[in-house]
Amino acid sequence: MSNLAAIVADIAEEMRGASERGRVADYIPPLACVSPDRFGIAVVLADGTEYLGGDADEPFSIQSVSKVFSLTLALGLIGDGLWARVGREPSGSAFNSIVQLETEQGIPRNPFINAGAIVVADVLLGGGTPAEAIAGVLRFVRGLAGDERITIDASVAAAEQATGFRNFALANYMRSFGNLHHPVEQALGVYFHQCALAMSCRQLALAGRFLAHDGRDPVTGRCIVTPQRARRINALMMLCGHYDNSGEFAFRVGLPGKSGVGGGILAVVPGVATIAVWSPGLNAKGNSQLGALALERLATRMGWSVFEVKG
Ligand code: GLU
Repeated sequence: MSNLAAIVADIAEEMRGASERGRVADYIPPLACVSPDRFGIAVVLADGTEYLGGDADEPFSIQSVSKVFSLTLALGLIGDGLWARVGREPSGSAFNSIVQLETEQGIPRNPFINAGAIVVADVLLGGGTPAEAIAGVLRFVRGLAGDERITIDASVAAAEQATGFRNFALANYMRSFGNLHHPVEQALGVYFHQCALAMSCRQLALAGRFLAHDGRDPVTGRCIVTPQRARRINALMMLCGHYDNSGEFAFRVGLPGKSGVGGGILAVVPGVATIAVWSPGLNAKGNSQLGALALERLATRMGWSVFEVKG
């Protein structure tokens, strides 16, 4: 990987100067205050070697990237039983769409659209109170990243609580079908707090390593999930991780990835590396404009698309 450092530096430099940066999300007020000029990238290899560029150590709101971690926890709690309540198909719809829920009896298409992630949050409540579920998510992510400094930004969670009318609608609608087992306020409390996790690219790339390495932390050997579960989470990230932009992301980047409206993307190069990028400006589908471009550049130059693997 001798040229990786130079490639990461090149990409950070290109993104620093890019003019088409997309639009920062403004429907969650604190996110609207983040400068569109920020860009960070972190690549972590199997042996733990890190390659960092730009604002790689700056914490940002990971938003829907958190859905990967909450899904992992929920599968740990109820296993494949989850799939009776959440589908595994791309939605082809916006992240917060409600349309399919009516014809599909309150079963969200996948765990990465908002409706699916709210069901996942409801599953996390099975283990206790909202505060305990939120603490469990934080503990899990800190443990994965090996970093106790990771926090939840309470002001972001409160802003989502105050403005998340669409999420309340999704949750109430699913509850009417019996697909939420706890009060709407509780499931959304967990959901809003997981979305408000503040992490840097470096912390995110470290936390995602189990996905690239057969479910294990490649440095300590600690088993987080089975190899099969890691593969399946990656499959969902590839097909559903960018909402109705997932096809485009797979086409351009060719890696499992999960985006968030904070402008972060976590991507997985199976067996090789995890990558986290952050640039707050979003494209029309709500995914980081420069983040996706940076991943496209990196995957192309390193030959990292999963469709490029030679047996
Ligand atoms: N918390 C955000 C919402 O529910 C997450 C959306 C996203 O990151 O795509 O609207």
